[in-house]
Amino acid sequence: MGRIRACPGSPAAEAAVVESGAVPSDPDIDEVAEEGKLVHDWLMHDALGSDLARHEVELQLNEHALRKARQIAEKRNAILDQEIPNWRDDSVWKHAENRFWYLSKGGAKMFSAQPDLVVIAFPKAVIINYKAGWKDPEEAPDNDQIKTEVAVVAQNFQVARVLGAIATPTNSPVLGLFEERELKANEEYIKGIVKAATAKAPRVAGEHCRFCKARGAGCEESAQFVINSVPVIADATPKDVAASLSPEMLKEVWKKGKVVEKIIEACKQRLEALPEEELAKLGLKLVPGRAGSPVFTETPQQVADRLGWTAEEMLGALALSLPKLREAWHAKYGGTKKDAERDVEFTLKGCIERQETKKVLEEV
Ligand code: SF4
Repeated sequence: MGRIRACPGSPAAEAAVVESGAVPSDPDIDEVAEEGKLVHDWLMHDALGSDLARHEVELQLNEHALRKARQIAEKRNAILDQEIPNWRDDSVWKHAENRFWYLSKGGAKMFSAQPDLVVIAFPKAVIINYKAGWKDPEEAPDNDQIKTEVAVVAQNFQVARVLGAIATPTNSPVLGLFEERELKANEEYIKGIVKAATAKAPRVAGEHCRFCKARGAGCEESAQFVINSVPVIADATPKDVAASLSPEMLKEVWKKGKVVEKIIEACKQRLEALPEEELAKLGLKLVPGRAGSPVFTETPQQVADRLGWTAEEMLGALALSLPKLREAWHAKYGGTKKDAERDVEFTLKGCIERQETKKVLEEV
């Protein structure tokens, strides 16, 4: 929901991409998602007291991920122990990873939420979400995930007090307590966001694009955001820029630079794979790169024989470096360096190979 608030056009954009079947895969995100799913599974079985299933998941988790899962469980248990002390009892309703819908007055599905854990002790409910990921969650007053889940749970279970929480491995949990008045205001707020998210709503790119299926699948706004995120500071030399930053800022720029470098390399590779005509339309072309180092296909003795040189004369050029051979030729026969270069190349024609070099992109 946070993304929908930031980019009201994203639900329609995502739906179009899903319908077209062009959802791009991101190996980095896929890997994080895979580990995150196992951590969530472990926490689910732990909350429901399914020891055997929890143990099976444990076997697939690496040490780091398992430590995160245990840290999150500690935070979750502390919240629940305080709010619903008997939450572990079988008689207490617990819903793990279930999707619930918020229905309009006419019974139509308006929006849904899938909290990691909902514990009901009428008239109150506690919602827990686990976050083991890359970014700290927003605080409760701004956290649309909590607000959405609270609205859905309050309607589904007709409870009058809902505590929404996000538990992370290290930080204090994000908590939002909603009682009667806040519940009403919250419901209106979420309904407002959902109503604003029509097919014609604007797309607004930002960090929230990271988990949007339209990203990388033709969403121009997100592509432009990436381009604009690469800093280009006019009228300042790189040294000026670096000199104006504190050590902490230098570290931040350096860290971001590593990501930017990878992005630029990936962009370059995609450009290089385009057909020539496409490149020409963009004002680009592929040209041969710098010639590779020469490789001799014969032994030093064979090269010496070709040159008609003795072992002594070859001494300075034993490593078979072309520049050294030219120097030796120049020292022996005189003339200009250009002559030496031409004569050596001519004499050794057939026993020097230059490796094929990759073509590089150039603006026309
Ligand atoms: S990729 Fe970003 S800008 Fe594009 S629809 Fe998704 S959230 Fe909006």
